[in-house]
Amino acid sequence: MPNPIDLRSDTVTKPTAAMRAAMAAAEVGDDVIDVDPTVDRLQRRCAELLDKEAALFVPSGTMANQIAVRLHCQPGDEFICDVESHVYNYEQGAFAQLTGVATRTIEGRCGVVNVEQFQDLIRPDNEHMVRTRMVWLENTHNRGAGRIQPYQNTADICRWAGQHGLRRHLDGARLFNAAVAGGIALHDWAQHFDTVSVCFSKGLGAPVGSALSGPRELIRLARRHRKVLGGGMRQAGIIAAGALYALEHHVDRLAEDHAHAKLLAEAIRAVEGLELQPPEIDTNMVIFRVDPALATAAQLAAALQQSGVLVLAIGPAKIRAVTHLDVTEADVRRAGEIIHQTAARYRADSTAR
Ligand SMILES: *Cc1c(COP(=O)(O)O)cnc(C)c1O
Repeated sequence: MPNPIDLRSDTVTKPTAAMRAAMAAAEVGDDVIDVDPTVDRLQRRCAELLDKEAALFVPSGTMANQIAVRLHCQPGDEFICDVESHVYNYEQGAFAQLTGVATRTIEGRCGVVNVEQFQDLIRPDNEHMVRTRMVWLENTHNRGAGRIQPYQNTADICRWAGQHGLRRHLDGARLFNAAVAGGIALHDWAQHFDTVSVCFSKGLGAPVGSALSGPRELIRLARRHRKVLGGGMRQAGIIAAGALYALEHHVDRLAEDHAHAKLLAEAIRAVEGLELQPPEIDTNMVIFRVDPALATAAQLAAALQQSGVLVLAIGPAKIRAVTHLDVTEADVRRAGEIIHQTAARYRADSTAR
């Protein structure tokens, strides 16, 4: 069988030959003792793109987020986030494990939240209660199928938070996708937040790394938190060079991934028994519901794997497919056909039963 078409995540991309060459040629130093020159360049570039005073290179998006929690909250504090957010679902509750912080969740629609949902949630200053300290947004939204948080909602929520003395963090693991698809610059999004995390290892196609950006004083403190979390990296210029290459060459091309996701969604829309959730595609992710009369999500994903298409079952009846640098338009069309054929086979079986 030819190589499978891997749509499980945009994290599966492998560095291109040109990216590897840039990494091999990177100038390096000890970034824990003092500074690695390539890491330094990457950090400056991130700060510039997001129009923040400083940025810190870290090994993962999870670490960037958890450092943000520690910058803004102390044990006994609470932050407010969407119930489907990455920080709440996919980071082992590290805010509680590592920092003694609680969360208050609100229910977005595919990650879209509005200021009214936050307004009554600030707890009174009372020794029985945790202290409400921070508002947390995610853009694009992972479990929301790559939805872009509407700009006005973002501005309204962050203005309200600022007026009430709450810190604001943006989990912008895929903020580049939002910027390219929506035509709103990174720094326009970032201006509403105290800190912003971004990932290089998702759609940008670098092998490793994320950055946390914000005011210089906070980022200096972030460096301490990175060290205690085990994220001090020595000749990290090797991987920072991959991220720098990605910033230079892989941002505008995200538009191709978005076009491919729309193509895939069109194919899925035409399949009886599969339903896009949400029906609109904002960026590079497609999530669809599988009619339980047909199969479970796990069964359909296993059958697709047999036919050379890898997707992720993210719920009993939910499947996610993500487009990225390593899938072509032809791959996506082929994946659409295979999904169609496989679902048709299940439908024939369920009718025969
Ligand atoms: C991937 C992702 C992260 C970070 O993930 P790591 O695997 O730790 O790099 C954070 N937030 C969102 C929304 C993500 O999709």
